Amino acid sequence: MSGADFGALDAAGLNLQAVFDVDALSPALAGRLHAQVDPARRFRQLILIGNAGPALWHAVHAAGMTTPDPIDDFSVRCVMRWLAARWAGVAVHRLYPGDVPIDLQGLGRLAGWHHDSPFKVGIQPGWGTWFAYRVALLADTALAPSAPLTTASPCASCTDTPCIAACPAGAMADGGFALDACIGYRQRAGSRCATRCVARMRCPEGAAQRYPDAHIHHVYAHSLRMIARYRERARAAESGRD
Ligand code: SF4
Ligand code: SF4
Repeated sequence: MSGADFGALDAAGLNLQAVFDVDALSPALAGRLHAQVDPARRFRQLILIGNAGPALWHAVHAAGMTTPDPIDDFSVRCVMRWLAARWAGVAVHRLYPGDVPIDLQGLGRLAGWHHDSPFKVGIQPGWGTWFAYRVALLADTALAPSAPLTTASPCASCTDTPCIAACPAGAMADGGFALDACIGYRQRAGSRCATRCVARMRCPEGAAQRYPDAHIHHVYAHSLRMIARYRERARAAESGRD
């Protein structure tokens, strides 16, 4: 078993890394992975890579924004190059980005990266909400498994909860999170949340690590396009049943 050198990933802004032994995952999660993608049980480990803070956007920008999905493409390229440099020829299966649904926030909880914020974006001390999951792999590696981070949620000691008051849709007003209210507001003409989450911007935790404006715009404009596409498909399926 060898310790992982994540220096090349850190340099690319892919500065959150966690390694899990598949056999040490919960039976439910390991069973799901085996059933969905690894019936032959070829892979010993699950590797989760994320980004935190502004570094990734700068690295993606420097590499050239030449594809429709430059963040995903850059992240996959860096991670596969990093893996190949240390484990040439190792069996690997990419879970994310990919076609099989995967509970990234659940993996983030296992790594200790994720606490729930009121608006359901993950939050952790230091980085605040300015982190994300970029790549998840199954690999037949023998890296030293990571110890999960053990931190308290910043929300537990946040008494004035400015994020809740800032949400123009009142999506958190009743103590839960009203996804429909959020999406409905985001899609309105003149919405203040078309290319950002106003609540997220108001959270003081990790404010110094906030993504550059262009990164925030890129992420939220993309998610709004995805929402519009999903709703369009749902409408088409609905009318096809009439
Ligand atoms: S403003 Fe407070 S409650 Fe809201 S996400 Fe930030 S820390 Fe949590
Ligand atoms: S995107 Fe806008 S509407 Fe949705 S939770 Fe954030 S602030 Fe509220």
